[in-house]
Amino acid sequence: MSLFAQVIVDILNQDVDRIFTYSVSEQTPNVSVGMRVAVPFGRQKNVEGIVVSLSEETDVPWDKLKPIYSCLDETPVITQEQIALAHWIKKEYHATMADALRLFVPSTLRSGRVKTKYISMVRLSAGQDAEMLLSSVKAQSKAYRIISALSEYGEMEKTRLNQIVSQCYEPLKKLTAQGITEEFSEEAKRSPYLDISPERTPWLELNLRQKQVLEEILSSQGEYKPFLLHGVTGSGKTEVYMQAINAVVQSGKTAVVLVPEISLTPQMVLNFRKKLGDSIAILHSALGAGERYDEWRRILSGEAKIVIGARSAIFAPVQNIGIIIVDEEHENSYISETHPRYDAVAVALKRGEYNSCPVILGSATPSVTRYYQMKQGAFTLLEMPKRANGKEMPPVEVVDMTEEFSKGNRSIFSQNLYLSMCDSVSRGQQIMLFLNRRGYSSFVMCRACGETITCENCDVSLTYHSSVNKLRCHYCGYEIPMPKVCPNCSSKFIKQFGAGTQKVEEEFNKLFPEIKTVRMDVDTTRGKDAHYHLLKQLSDGSAQALIGTQMIAKGHDFPKVSLVGVVAADGMLRMPDYRSRERTFALLTQVSGRAGRAQISGKVVLQTYSPQHFVIECAAKHDYKGFYEKEIAEREAMWYPPFAKIVRVLYVCEDAQKAFDASIQAYDRIKSILEGEKETVLYLQRSAAPISRLQEMYRHQVLIKLKENQRTNEIVNEIFDAIGGIANKDLYCDIQINPVNLF
Ligand code: ADP
Ligand code: ZN
Ligand code: ZN
Repeated sequence: MSLFAQVIVDILNQDVDRIFTYSVSEQTPNVSVGMRVAVPFGRQKNVEGIVVSLSEETDVPWDKLKPIYSCLDETPVITQEQIALAHWIKKEYHATMADALRLFVPSTLRSGRVKTKYISMVRLSAGQDAEMLLSSVKAQSKAYRIISALSEYGEMEKTRLNQIVSQCYEPLKKLTAQGITEEFSEEAKRSPYLDISPERTPWLELNLRQKQVLEEILSSQGEYKPFLLHGVTGSGKTEVYMQAINAVVQSGKTAVVLVPEISLTPQMVLNFRKKLGDSIAILHSALGAGERYDEWRRILSGEAKIVIGARSAIFAPVQNIGIIIVDEEHENSYISETHPRYDAVAVALKRGEYNSCPVILGSATPSVTRYYQMKQGAFTLLEMPKRANGKEMPPVEVVDMTEEFSKGNRSIFSQNLYLSMCDSVSRGQQIMLFLNRRGYSSFVMCRACGETITCENCDVSLTYHSSVNKLRCHYCGYEIPMPKVCPNCSSKFIKQFGAGTQKVEEEFNKLFPEIKTVRMDVDTTRGKDAHYHLLKQLSDGSAQALIGTQMIAKGHDFPKVSLVGVVAADGMLRMPDYRSRERTFALLTQVSGRAGRAQISGKVVLQTYSPQHFVIECAAKHDYKGFYEKEIAEREAMWYPPFAKIVRVLYVCEDAQKAFDASIQAYDRIKSILEGEKETVLYLQRSAAPISRLQEMYRHQVLIKLKENQRTNEIVNEIFDAIGGIANKDLYCDIQINPVNLF
C-alpha cells in the first residue's frame, strides 16, 4: 500500500492549479492512480479530485497532511496515458490541470447524474440438469415452463422471461429459493445505434494505389509515424481506413477514427459496422448523456476496440492504440471553440507518439498549413489522385455572374444553371444546389463588376455593421462608411451579398413546381436523425432536388445526382478571414465530388462574381497543388499562418469600463514584453472587439501578430504569463491563437 496520493482537485481556478498530497488511510486502501477521490480542501469538506500519482514518501509535514475521505470509483477512470496527456494539454493550451482532466471524464460522471443501468437477469443455476428437473415437476406448470424456457434460451432478462411465461415472478422466486434458478444483474448498455447488428458486407478488392497506401501505413505499425493522405473525393480513402483498422484490431490493438461532426451520420456509422462489426463505440454531441456514458464505459473496459467520433473523441479512454485516423483533417471543427482551445489533430499526433503508432490525416484538400509542414518534412505524404471506380472528376462550368447581370438577368440562377436543371429534371435525375450561409449579408459586393471592399492593411474583406452603417476590418480595426456607389465602376448595385437556402428553394419551386425538393440547413436538421430522414428521401428517390448549405457537401453518395449547382461561390471566399480561400477551395472540391459518382456522368455549374480568382480557377480544374502554390505565396507575402501567429486576447465583461480597463492593462504589459522583439512583432493593437457588445457583455481586445520564428512560442508563453491575474470571476479573458472566428 502506498502511503501518499497526489491529487488534482476539480476546481477551475488558477490559484489551486497545483498537485496536492493526501495520506492514504485504512478507509481507502485500494486507492490507485486514475481514480476519483473525495478529499477535504480548504474549508470545504468534500471536493472531488483525481489521483495522478502515488508515493511512499512526501515532503509535506505530517501536521499539514489530510487523509483522502473516500474513493469515488472502484477502478481507475483515467489511464496513465491520459494523465500524461493532461500534463501536455496544460502546457500546450495554457489550461489548468483541472481543465485538462475534465476533457477525459464524461460530465455526467462528475455530476453523478447518470448511473450505470442494471437489468435483472435469470438463469438455471450451475450444475442443474434441465431434463431431470423437468421430470420432477408437473408438466406445463409455471415451474415447468420456466425451466424449459431457460434451458432452451439460456440466461435472459427477467422481463423477457415474463413475456414467455406470463406471471412468472412468484414461481421464479420459489425456484431461486430452492437453488434451481439464479437471479443476477447485468449492466445494461444504452445503444446509440439505430438498429442491432447489421449484416456484414465483404471487403472490397483494393486497387493498386489503395494497396500501396495500405501497405505503407501497415509497415509502420509499432512506430510513431504521421502521414498526410491526400486523396481526391471518391478515391477510396474510407475503404483503406477500414482495412487498416481491421488489420490493427486483428493484431490485438485498438483504433481511433475522428470525423467532423457533420459527417458522423447514421449512414456512415452503419458502413463501418457492416465492415468491422460491433466492437465500435461512437461518440458525438447528439448522443444522450446516458448513451455517451455507456459508450465511454465500453471503451474504458476494453470491450469496444474501435472508437469513431467527433473532436472530443480524441480524449476517449482507449488503450493500446494501433492506429489513429483523422478524416477531413482540414476541417475547422477539430479546433475547440471553448477553453481549453485544443486542436484535436495535435492531440491525435501526441497520442500517436505515446502509443508508437501511425497517425493518418486524410483529406481531399489538405489544410495549407499541414501541407506546408509536410513539405518541411513533418509528415509522410500518401497520394490517391484518382477515383476508385475509375471515373473522371466531373467537368466544372464556371459562370460569370457579372456578365449575367449585364445581360439583364437578375435571377439567382444563371441561364446555364437554369438550362442544366431543366436537362436533369427531364431525364429524371437528381440535382444538388449548394450555397453557403456563413458570411451571408456580412460583406458588400458590387453586382455589376464583382468588386468587394477589402482592408488596406490586411487584404481581407471588410464586414458590414448595420448598426453604424460602416464597414470594418476584423483584423485591425480599420473602418470606413458604407459607400453609396461602387468605388470601382460607380454602379449603385453595391449591397450586402447573399441569399439564404429558403430563398433559393422558393425560386426553384417557382421554376419547377412539379419537383419535390429537400432543404438542408441548420434549421431543418435539428435532432439526432434529421439528416438521415432528409437524405433518405433522396436515396429512395422520393425527392429529386437537394438544396442546402455546406453540410450537403459531405460524404453522401447519391448515384443519381447528375448536376451540382453552386449558387454563389463568393459568399465564403469573401469572408473576413485569411482562411477563407482555403475553405472555399475545400468546399468547392467537396461539392464537385458529389456529381456523377456512379454510372451517369455529371457536371458542376459554379456561379461566381470572380471567375478569374485563382481559387475558382483551381477548383474548376480540380487542381489542389496549383491552389496550394498560389495560396502559400499569398500567406507568405501577407504574413499569415504558417508564417505568422495571430494572438487575440479578448476581455468580456458586463461592465464596459472594466473590460476596457483590462484591455489597456493587458496592452501595456504585452507592449513591454514586445519591446525587445522588433524582429518578430508584426503588429500590436488594442481596440473594441468587432462585435463590441454581445449578449449584454462588453468586449475589448488586444490583437498581436508575430512572425513565426524561434522566438514566437516563447513570446506567446510570456504573453500568457504577463496577463495572468487581470481576469476574475466577472471579467472573462479568452486567449485565442489563430482564431477561427474574429468577432
Ligand atoms: P473517399 O473516402 O476517398 O471519398 P470512399 O472510400 O468513400 O472514397 O470510396 C468511394 C466509392 O468507391 C465508394 O462507393 C466505395 O465503395 C468505392 N470503392 C472504394 N474502393 C473501391 C475498390 N477498391 N473497388 C471498388 N470500389 C471501391
Ligand atoms: Zn462595381
Ligand atoms: Zn485590416
